[in-house]
Amino acid sequence: MDFLSKKARAIAPYTAGEQLRDRTYIKLNTNENPYPPSPAAAQALRTFPAQELRRYPRPDADDLRAAIALAEGVSPENVFCGNGSDEVLALSFPAFFDGEGAGACFADLTYSFYEVFAAFFGIPKKIVPLKADFTMDLAAMRAQDCQGYYIANPNAPTGVGIGRAQMEEFVASVPEKIVILDEAYMDFFGESCVPLTKKYANVLVVRTFSKSYSLAGMRCGYAVGSAALIAGLLRMKDCFNSYPVDAVAQAVCRAAIGDRPYYEGVIARVKAERERLQAALRGMGFTVPESRANFLFAGRGAVGGRQVYEGLKAQGVLVRHWDGPLLNDFVRITVGTPEENTILLEKLQNILS
Ligand SMILES: *Cc1c(COP(=O)(O)O)cnc(C)c1O
Repeated sequence: MDFLSKKARAIAPYTAGEQLRDRTYIKLNTNENPYPPSPAAAQALRTFPAQELRRYPRPDADDLRAAIALAEGVSPENVFCGNGSDEVLALSFPAFFDGEGAGACFADLTYSFYEVFAAFFGIPKKIVPLKADFTMDLAAMRAQDCQGYYIANPNAPTGVGIGRAQMEEFVASVPEKIVILDEAYMDFFGESCVPLTKKYANVLVVRTFSKSYSLAGMRCGYAVGSAALIAGLLRMKDCFNSYPVDAVAQAVCRAAIGDRPYYEGVIARVKAERERLQAALRGMGFTVPESRANFLFAGRGAVGGRQVYEGLKAQGVLVRHWDGPLLNDFVRITVGTPEENTILLEKLQNILS
């Protein structure tokens, strides 16, 4: 007797990237930012008054919402904050999808948490294969009978992006269906669909402090959408955890989003290295779809993804590899600092020769 529910026994949970502590690795496996959070965010952390922690934080993170609204050019009622964008995405399933409905539609190769959340909340899924060039098949998705869509843009783990104009065309063509745009990596692309949330009632954009803001350890993400969609998320939040964003995270993320100039510099550096790394990998014979994110999806046919992953790990460099028909040949490599990327390329050369 293990007391577990049928769901707990049967569900296949999401597998997070390795956080190994057995030696010092060059860690290019979970798309973290190689640069530190902004000095303003660090200052907010250092000066946070400990006595404040005896009180619960603001349940809806109102000061942070206001700061996000200012940065995104919307009103606070258009912003919802959660404990990482994973939690925002999780709450969006029960907020916008019915167990007995037509389900949530997403690509076969995309953020694997969507599938886990659909299973967890008992929501049917409609899976649409990516095209051979790793782009999303929006026409095939449009034709699906579903309640709505999850689209990671740029997509993970491929890094492929969809421009705002093309996204708008899609959104406008499915006015009866909700389109949830996961923009975890959008700062590395610059085609955010937040402006579309003012024009289209069916668009919800989800963003995070984990990647471009160098704050994965703070666990904070947010959604931008119509006041009605945001109210739906708030209802779900208050059925689960009234205080998902802790007081320290609220203060630190508020300082971070107020310091865009610092982050513009960080983002520019990551993008420049992405281009260098992409060219170098292609020069070594890897297939790399054009990345708009802070990582590269690289495959080299005969040298399988597992072999690359294991060969790099043995040399102290962690990248991400998944087993699976579409994924076997590939590894996903986070863009690091110039020094880290140079070491990565050296170690890769060792494996190939
Ligand atoms: C990293 C990531 C997230 C979530 O990150 P949080 O740390 O929970 O904010 C969401 N979507 C995609 C596609 C990601 O890669």
